[in-house]
Amino acid sequence: MADIIRLLPDHVANQIAAGEVVQRPASVVKELLENAIDAQATEIKLIVKDGGKTLIQVVDNGIGMSGTDARLSFERHATSKIEKAEDLFNLSTKGFRGEALASIAAIAHVEMMTRTGEDEIGTHIKIEGSKVISQEVAVVPKGTSMLVKHLFFNIPARRNFLKSDQVEFRHITDEFHRVALAHPQISFCFYNNGGELFNLPENDFRKRIVHIFGRKSNEKLVPVTEDTQVVKISGFIQKPEFAKKSRGEQFFFANNRFIKSPYLHHAVLGAFDGLIRPGTHPGYFLCLDVDPASIDINIHPTKTEVKFDDEHTLYAILKSSVKHSLGQFNVIPALDFEQDQNLETPYSYKDKGVSLPKVSVDAAFNPFQVVEHKTRVGQHYSKTSTKGWENLYQGFETPINRDGASNLEFESETINGSIFSSFNEQLDTIGTTFQLRKKYIITTIKSGMVVINQSRAHQRILYEDFLKNITIKKAVSQQLLFPLSLSFSLDEIEILKEIRNNLCAVGFVFGTIDENVVEIKGVPVIVTESEVQMVMEQLIADYQMEVAVDSFSQSDMLAKTLAKTLSVKTGEVLDEQSQTALVNDLFACKETTLSPFNKRTYITITENDLDRKFI
Ligand code: ADP
Ligand code: MG
Repeated sequence: MADIIRLLPDHVANQIAAGEVVQRPASVVKELLENAIDAQATEIKLIVKDGGKTLIQVVDNGIGMSGTDARLSFERHATSKIEKAEDLFNLSTKGFRGEALASIAAIAHVEMMTRTGEDEIGTHIKIEGSKVISQEVAVVPKGTSMLVKHLFFNIPARRNFLKSDQVEFRHITDEFHRVALAHPQISFCFYNNGGELFNLPENDFRKRIVHIFGRKSNEKLVPVTEDTQVVKISGFIQKPEFAKKSRGEQFFFANNRFIKSPYLHHAVLGAFDGLIRPGTHPGYFLCLDVDPASIDINIHPTKTEVKFDDEHTLYAILKSSVKHSLGQFNVIPALDFEQDQNLETPYSYKDKGVSLPKVSVDAAFNPFQVVEHKTRVGQHYSKTSTKGWENLYQGFETPINRDGASNLEFESETINGSIFSSFNEQLDTIGTTFQLRKKYIITTIKSGMVVINQSRAHQRILYEDFLKNITIKKAVSQQLLFPLSLSFSLDEIEILKEIRNNLCAVGFVFGTIDENVVEIKGVPVIVTESEVQMVMEQLIADYQMEVAVDSFSQSDMLAKTLAKTLSVKTGEVLDEQSQTALVNDLFACKETTLSPFNKRTYITITENDLDRKFI
């Protein structure tokens, strides 16, 4: 057989290697910002266009490079930061691989302008796909400017793989947050599509956090300090009552480098144990200073995961110092956690602003007047249905005709009209309904019985309602007597602006939106004032996780999030009337069998099934 192995041409090898370093525009941002920091810059500017796909530029006032170094910096494994393998064990710089510039230059159009303090004239280099287009002397300021255009121009597959501009922009913002938080003593500016997004002056850590996450974040912070031989811990945790639905504000820094550590995260969660509601996440900004020799940042190519020598000790110290802070600053509330949690107001609602009595919405109507053992949760379902109790009863008469919903297309339409109506016929013979283990609603039909998962069923009902409202734009909102002012970080505000139209369609009414505060003047009838913050947070969290590209998927996501957040949950007691309403509402849906998250909403057990069990 003939020889078949050959060496890949340099440019192909470079492109392959680049894939390791540069996954998306945010990776470029990270590498360039870190290079600027390693170059001892005190002022760094980041300029981005179209989610970084068109342009990423980082300008610093650091030490710059000589003409020769400037050219050499684009070679693979060219670095000024380590000389020998042992240096790896005592790193004080962000970079050390000497790969970033080579990788970026292999897959983009790059221009570098740089000048050292000693030189009067600097260098201007243009490189496209690893090919040096030009290198000239140039009059440029001290420091370095790196311009990266048309990322992945020569790897269409990778370019197509990029997400929407908004998603890529969000990744960039995340990177920016991490770097800016790790270096409060450096001033940063961040411009997006020509507008200034952040202008962060040199500051201490606390002020840096507040500059990034908004004025209101200051009052949430509790300091954490600990000085031991193994580690010096400093930074802040957020008070437990500010725990959020999204995991947004969780930061560990080891020796001024953002790191991810599920293990240490667990230690912090442990300290918060019992203080926050399940499903919410505490915020923290914790800096760990350890001996550089006791930490290996070499184990992961993108360098966010690290290995500590003595993780167990670190875990214990971290957990106890966070606990200590929570105790010391008296933020552990006197709550009785033995109480049935399902009957408690969710913790996140506590201490929220004064809310108007719900009764003002529809004082005349109380569907539960006759119910003797009225429960809070029963009210919850009643509340979720106040959008028109009449509708529930209309549903009784003409279950299929939910005002206009029938001509809308919903996500999963597996059940056709005929099965649907025959089911309703059967339901007309409804006997009793009852609730099993605060989770299932059981009702009888001609052939046997139906067991409905209350939470999933309600999700389906709400989902269709919201989607319908978004589509036909006729949601009813309740005006708030006193508008609510909710504070968010800048990028959360950006997200709210993106989904604002759809939020209006479901009944939210916005007042002014400034850089940190959103004013809410009206809410959908189904949402109570105390829930608004939580709903908004959930929306932002979901939106951050998975960004909808087109308007349909945006509406769909919004409807799903609202349905998930506002639905009756397992563990909530429903009185008889709510049970019946739920059953009727469910079977008036376009799709009855599945929740919006494709989970089964009910099962039927026929008499035959039962007979077989008794053989
Ligand atoms: P690394 O950062 O791992 O050393 P890079 O490819 O990112 O590798 O950079 C290569 C070299 O180029 C660096 O070691 C540094 O000497 C030089 N360099 C890169 N960016 C800058 C900058 N903004 N200012 C000064 N020197 C820089
Ligand atoms: Mg570097």
